[in-house]
Amino acid sequence: MGKHVNISKNWVNRLIQDFISSSPLNSLRNENNDPAWDSALVGFSSGTDKIWQQYKEYVGAFHWTPWEVFNQHSPEEIVTAEQLTVISWILPQRKQVRETNCRAKRYPSEEWARIRVFGEEFNVALRNHVVKSLENAGHKAVAPMLVPNWTIVKSERFSYASSWSERHAAHAAGLGTFGLCDGLITERGKAMRAGSVVAKISIKPTPRPYTNHRAYCLYYAEGTCGKCIDRCPARAITQGGHDKEKCREHLALSREYVKKTYKFEGYGCGLCQVGVPCEAQIPVKVARQALQRGELPLPPPPIA
Ligand code: SF4
Ligand code: SF4
Repeated sequence: MGKHVNISKNWVNRLIQDFISSSPLNSLRNENNDPAWDSALVGFSSGTDKIWQQYKEYVGAFHWTPWEVFNQHSPEEIVTAEQLTVISWILPQRKQVRETNCRAKRYPSEEWARIRVFGEEFNVALRNHVVKSLENAGHKAVAPMLVPNWTIVKSERFSYASSWSERHAAHAAGLGTFGLCDGLITERGKAMRAGSVVAKISIKPTPRPYTNHRAYCLYYAEGTCGKCIDRCPARAITQGGHDKEKCREHLALSREYVKKTYKFEGYGCGLCQVGVPCEAQIPVKVARQALQRGELPLPPPPIA
């Protein structure tokens, strides 16, 4: 570990934005070498937030708290939950990528499939970069998605669930709420990918500007919309929610299409993330305006 440097919110923000602007890995690896991402939303949550225990109770005991994942992978440095901050980020899909997938009817556009593979490779590099930079600044850190025992578990309630969810971490860090299709609707919409790192640093948590974990979805907030139901080519979304199994089967089928059509090993879908009112913004007007005015109804969101 390097010389101890105090870590602020701005330090983390700059680190992430600089990596997006300067890393050669930020590329769709297409002919034009278009960037995968252009910016990020960043939020912070505390290791002591009650929401981690609520996730455990709701998702299953296998779902890690930040303290559990940190201590498993940093046994030489035992810490308390109070000493931990979770850094979460959202990488919103660029307009050009959204527009191409918007025209897709069954399988993803080439750009979208490239993002799913190469954009996520960049996201992995970003997680590693954040961990390494924090350690160089004297602070131990762990990226939960990159630890070797991160796993997907069969779950009675959700058909399957994982030991750590980037979307749930982002929700805890005030970055968004869940939609009918299970995607996380953020200030920049639902078309995005997310990442996180748990670190032994102290940064004030970002307030959650919602009192309900579905506050930004028109279907739950106003009883309207449901547009993602029609966008899904696999009929995996209904008024009852998202059928993960059907979605996964469709994703598996997309592999052959991507290989045959775009000539690279990839996959993807995300048709429900574009061509819908929550694609690039919070569609619930009162919630969007309250956020713009900086109004923060603060009681922690209920989980069920
Ligand atoms: S498309 Fe409509 S119903 Fe579906 S998640 Fe977005 S706001 Fe909710
Ligand atoms: S990712 Fe594709 S298959 Fe899965 S729910 Fe969305 S539209 Fe349907």
